Amino acid sequence: MYEFNEQTRALADVVQRLTDEFQMPLEARKLRGETIGRADLAPGVEAARKVGLWDLNRPQELGGPDLSVVDRMAITETAFRCLVPLRPGGSALPPLYSLEGEQKARYLDPIVAGEIGYCFAQTEPHGGADPAGAIRTMATKVDGGWKINGTKVFISSFDNARICFVLASLDREKKAGGIAMFAVERDNPGLIPRRIPMLGDFVTHELIFDECFVDELAMISPAGKGFKGAQQTLSAARLNVGARAIGIAQRAYEMMVENAQRREVFGKRLADLQETQSKVVDSWVEIQQNRLMLYAAAEKADRGHDIRIECGMVKMLATEMCARVLDRAIQVFGAAGCALDNPLAHWYDHQRMARIYEGPTEVHKYRVLARQLLA
Ligand SMILES: Cc1cc2nc3c(=O)[nH]c(=O)nc-3n(C[C@H](O)[C@H](O)[C@H](O)COP(=O)(O)OP(=O)(O)OC[C@H]3O[C@@H](n4cnc5c(N)ncnc54)[C@H](O)[C@@H]3O)c2cc1C
Repeated sequence: MYEFNEQTRALADVVQRLTDEFQMPLEARKLRGETIGRADLAPGVEAARKVGLWDLNRPQELGGPDLSVVDRMAITETAFRCLVPLRPGGSALPPLYSLEGEQKARYLDPIVAGEIGYCFAQTEPHGGADPAGAIRTMATKVDGGWKINGTKVFISSFDNARICFVLASLDREKKAGGIAMFAVERDNPGLIPRRIPMLGDFVTHELIFDECFVDELAMISPAGKGFKGAQQTLSAARLNVGARAIGIAQRAYEMMVENAQRREVFGKRLADLQETQSKVVDSWVEIQQNRLMLYAAAEKADRGHDIRIECGMVKMLATEMCARVLDRAIQVFGAAGCALDNPLAHWYDHQRMARIYEGPTEVHKYRVLARQLLA
């Protein structure tokens, strides 16, 4: 099945070594019920930085790391085999890399230096699957800047964010063409957050923008480019969500095999029962199919081709596949698979959400793929 070339293999081995040293002990602590915070993650992030795993979103033509898309996917897939994955730091949203001068110094540089975190706010209470149609948050021109009014929901990473990059419309009639992107500082008095606890121990936020004033420099992308830049961000993220799902499914598969070989029922190893064999074989085959698809898409991107269609396909199929593998693995573990001292239970919750964020399965199927195939 899909084999990494020598360079990618070496890179994946480095990520695995860092994972074993820094992340697996954190996984063990999380499984004992401890909360893992930013300070706990810092040694792994720093060790990754020392070996050049930093600012991975920066395009190569703007001085980004000499890594192919295949390399990047291999890093993600390997890292996500751990419940507390290694997450290299210093990466900004793609549209930020074209900022210059004072704007670059204010927004891009501190992110790349690893000094501040950020979040990205697109989804609104009226719907996230069709953001161009649903965005009602408005930005109005005022003296010296803009006033933003509206509400965003289910926004990840606000707890660690100093800046929120928010999509707002200047003219709703223009739909996507009227949407711009603004930067709002976390401590802006016009930004009111509310925690939304989600499945598992994940937390998102509702963000209310109430007469929220930002100055001229806070406009990151003007009307029309805001939405395009956001979709560019999400397209890249989708392939990554697929790579994560494959890494998680691979570890769940290995755990399922190990348990099937060890555990006995009715005087037989689970591994000797045909029903277990079916779960193991189906999982292995589906993981291989998805890996072939992921890395074929990544290789196509490395040859310079547009892979927007493949991004949607990989995201949709890999997250659905991962959910099936986790479900089978939990069944093979019995009650032990449902206990919170087992990574399977944590992934099961989180991966349920992965079929919704970065575009629900149906959006990829009907809005992206069906539209393209039947055009
Ligand atoms: C854990 C998590 C983290 C998130 N983090 C962020 C974040 O950081 N920033 C951000 O902006 N958003 C974030 N989101 C929101 C996410 O992007 C939205 O949930 C997603 O885009 C879907 O929007 P919605 O939930 O409003 O569903 P809706 O738009 O209300 O859609 C509901 C359902 O309708 C179905 N559907 C949609 N379109 C079609 C169609 N064409 N045909 C058939 N069925 C369809 C789908 O099953 C969909 O789930 C996050 C969500 C989760 C769960």
